[in-house]
Amino acid sequence: MSAFPPLHADDSRGVGSPNESELLAADGVVPLGRELNSSCPCCDVPLRAGEIDGHPVLYCGECGGVLMRNGAFGTVLRDRRSRHVDGEPADVRPLDRNAALREIDCPSCGRRMETHPYYGPGNVMIDSCSHCELVWLDHAELADLASAVAPRRPRW
Ligand SMILES: [Zn+2]
Ligand SMILES: [Zn+2]
Repeated sequence: MSAFPPLHADDSRGVGSPNESELLAADGVVPLGRELNSSCPCCDVPLRAGEIDGHPVLYCGECGGVLMRNGAFGTVLRDRRSRHVDGEPADVRPLDRNAALREIDCPSCGRRMETHPYYGPGNVMIDSCSHCELVWLDHAELADLASAVAPRRPRW
């Protein structure tokens, strides 16, 4: 064993850059640090292993996108919304039409993912692969969905 690590270890990249922690904080992703064989469908960098509320996810340290199982997505959303019921209702962003035009491939099987609005409160386009039962969420989409509780005011 060497006594000291080099004083100027040339390793400024890696998990935990300020940019990445900020990205991950938005959706509550806990990085586990391992790089995987799958690549981000948007930026083509290796996805990393992480966790959201204890559920395993893959995430991209570049764009903050998250890949997770359909079931875990539903559970996380339900849990977060139930905790949010008494909170302030979040501003709902208008539906991003551009997101509907994007086409990405499933990081797991390579099939084209289906892009569709997530029905319910929160105007968010999500991408899903019915073959793998995975959903791809762009940065902060999970946070947007979780904080979008049904408006209590009457509809026009
Ligand atoms: Zn990415
Ligand atoms: Zn797939």
